[in-house]
Amino acid sequence: MRSWVEISRRGIAGNFAALRAVVGPQVEVAAVVKANAYGHGAVEVSRVLEAEGARWLAVAAAEEGVELRQAGLASRILVMSDSLPENRAAFFEHGLTPVVHALEELPPLDEMARRSGRPLSYHLKMDSGMGRMGTRAGAAAVAEAVRSAAHLRLEGFMSHLASSGDYTSPQTGEQVRAFAEWRERLRGMGIEARFVHMAATLPIAHGRVEAFGNMVRAGLSLYGYIGTARGAAPPRILEVRPVLAWKARLVAVKEVPAGAPVGYGALFRAPHAMRIGMVAAGYADGVPHSLANRGQVIAAGRLVPMLGAVSMDLTAVDLTECPSIQNGDAVTLVGSDGEAALDAQQMAEAAGTIPYAVLCGIGNRVQRVYV
Ligand SMILES: *Cc1c(COP(=O)(O)O)cnc(C)c1O
Repeated sequence: MRSWVEISRRGIAGNFAALRAVVGPQVEVAAVVKANAYGHGAVEVSRVLEAEGARWLAVAAAEEGVELRQAGLASRILVMSDSLPENRAAFFEHGLTPVVHALEELPPLDEMARRSGRPLSYHLKMDSGMGRMGTRAGAAAVAEAVRSAAHLRLEGFMSHLASSGDYTSPQTGEQVRAFAEWRERLRGMGIEARFVHMAATLPIAHGRVEAFGNMVRAGLSLYGYIGTARGAAPPRILEVRPVLAWKARLVAVKEVPAGAPVGYGALFRAPHAMRIGMVAAGYADGVPHSLANRGQVIAAGRLVPMLGAVSMDLTAVDLTECPSIQNGDAVTLVGSDGEAALDAQQMAEAAGTIPYAVLCGIGNRVQRVYV
């Protein structure tokens, strides 16, 4: 194998257990496994979660839900952002639960449910101030649309927070309030839902209980990361651990003289004679292109710098201080080796991006190995 990630099943189970413990037994944890479980492999991760008692999985697209059903997963599957008309049939055929973002989606879904002879449950998303998905319709219009859809079952009220990790911003408080008032008005009109949810990893981790409702949607934390909050955030109540280690083999090791350019654009020039290695992972595998001359890997138990441009299939590293390492040996891009450790958060910071993008960016060519 040129490059692979090792994913710990026990680690996923442990993070899921930590999430459940933090929210308590009254709150359902929907495990977010969209984007191939943030690069970790949606089918395998979902199998682990189901074995641990997960009742809800959440994906972005209907086809992600279909893949899980075809692999035999039986949990409820919430499809969070797919309102394309051609994907509606999949909700019925594969027992998926759509999130409805606009009231105009209800009549065609209702008609499909009528023809199928089976009611379809859905969650209704409110745009409480994020300004992305979700309806902005007032309570009266919602109540009427919900009542008219006689073959559908309103099962959840949902919203999403735009600035949940930013404790310098009033936006989260405003969104929580807007969502609560909207639900209150709907309740006054006799419209209620079994589940209410708006919290993802950051509000869970910092204990924003007013956003918990009775379901939370945890993604990044399942994979062992939380992200950084801004401002006066209360202490974290959630402890999770990364579950993925990323390795790649050296496919060339050589000596270069002082002054030698390294890689595209000669972005690095050897200041002295050096021993350099070519790691078999590049931006096609998810090594951020912006790590040119900034990233690090672990070679023979020590942190060493990336040299020059990250290319599509290869990344050059400095092995001058690692005389024992040989062509064919593996280095660690994410994970630990001896005393040295690097995680996706650190890689993201060096690359000027977020850990979500690093994890989701791990390419198809990188083999997934479950341990
Ligand atoms: C991706 C996503 C989540 C999960 O967010 P994390 O920060 O990874 O926990 C929750 N809700 C919605 C609507 C999402 O799109």
